[in-house]
Amino acid sequence: MGRRKKIVQECERLMDDPENIRNIAIAAHVDHGKTTLSDNLLAGAGMISDETAGEQLAMDTEEDEQERGITIDAANVSMTHEYEDTNHLINLIDTPGHVDFGGDVTRAMRAVDGALVVVDAVEGAMPQTETVLRQALREGVKPTLFINKVDRLISELQEGPEEMQERLLSVIRDVNDLIRGMTEEMDDIEDWTVSVEDGTVGFGSALYKWGVSMPSMQRTGMDFGEIMELERADKRQELHERTPLSDVVLDMVCEHFPNPVDAQPMRIPRIWRGDAESELAETMRLVDESGEVVLMVTDIAMDPHAGEVASGRVFSGTLEKGQELYVSGTAGKNRVQSVGIYMGGEREEVDQVPAGNIAAVTGLRDAIAGSTVSSTEMTPFESIEHISEPVITKS
Ligand code: GDP
Repeated sequence: MGRRKKIVQECERLMDDPENIRNIAIAAHVDHGKTTLSDNLLAGAGMISDETAGEQLAMDTEEDEQERGITIDAANVSMTHEYEDTNHLINLIDTPGHVDFGGDVTRAMRAVDGALVVVDAVEGAMPQTETVLRQALREGVKPTLFINKVDRLISELQEGPEEMQERLLSVIRDVNDLIRGMTEEMDDIEDWTVSVEDGTVGFGSALYKWGVSMPSMQRTGMDFGEIMELERADKRQELHERTPLSDVVLDMVCEHFPNPVDAQPMRIPRIWRGDAESELAETMRLVDESGEVVLMVTDIAMDPHAGEVASGRVFSGTLEKGQELYVSGTAGKNRVQSVGIYMGGEREEVDQVPAGNIAAVTGLRDAIAGSTVSSTEMTPFESIEHISEPVITKS
């Protein structure tokens, strides 16, 4: 069996166990390293080759597909990661980095339960960091922080340990001030500030593929002094091998982001204003795969062969080929032609996609980004409002 086939089978197996699923987005101010980090995660999970990661040319690992030159659109990817002896399915939705795509960022947030916010260590929190945080928090999506480009502090700016620590702490402080300011009025959100001690902050270099967090330092026995030494000595390959970025970040994702079973009871009342006492509300809160099918479409893409592909979050029930589903705001029903998941960015058809997952669906000809698609007529999800950006002029 080919490697890809094996990964697909493993994803299909994991899809049935929502407790081991994490639906996440990576969000950042433009140029802070979101694309480079995403590629690293895919390479670390074995979805693309290590050499291509960072070149923004993510390709499938299968040789024949590399030869055929299939490049992936990293908009949606599923990958597996072993954490504490349990394999996890991580569905990553890429969010466009440019200010013009604010609407897409907000839509992506609807499909996920956790947002990894990437901040450039040199630039610090920027206007778009604030916007993506606001989008995440308003959707009830929990943030964690990755401070990127730490290699620059060490090798380029030649900062000493104290100066560097002060700089990193000030980034964390700024991000926490934003989180606190935005969640103050939200009584359903507990303390979502991030901290080094509890492992919700990671640091490192997406470019040189190394990363650290408090738990990773405890595990590898490496301290910051040693990391600075290796980075200064240009021993980045050694750093990558001893403390690979993807492991640190994917561990953080599994440990600190809620799975759909924990997230949906809190998220559903935020994004859906239907009858909270109804059976439908209950199946959505419980991520019940045997309940009515409820899909929130967050994106429509054109596939050269399959035509329009709708992707989105399955909040309840199990999506299957042949189902006749209502599409909010339109009359009549659409017939599901195929259901799939995104493997390393390519759509892979599967038999079923149960609640708690991100699905790729064809046949929903009336759906648009923002549609509620369901097996029973229902109150649609709240519309996804676009938060406009502060105007930024790049010098
Ligand atoms: P995005 O706009 O957030 O997706 O950012 P990219 O991933 O495209 O990165 C923007 C630029 O920063 C590229 O030139 C990257 O090579 C560079 N970059 C990304 N991560 C790092 C890092 O950890 N260290 C350094 N020195 N450069 C980085």
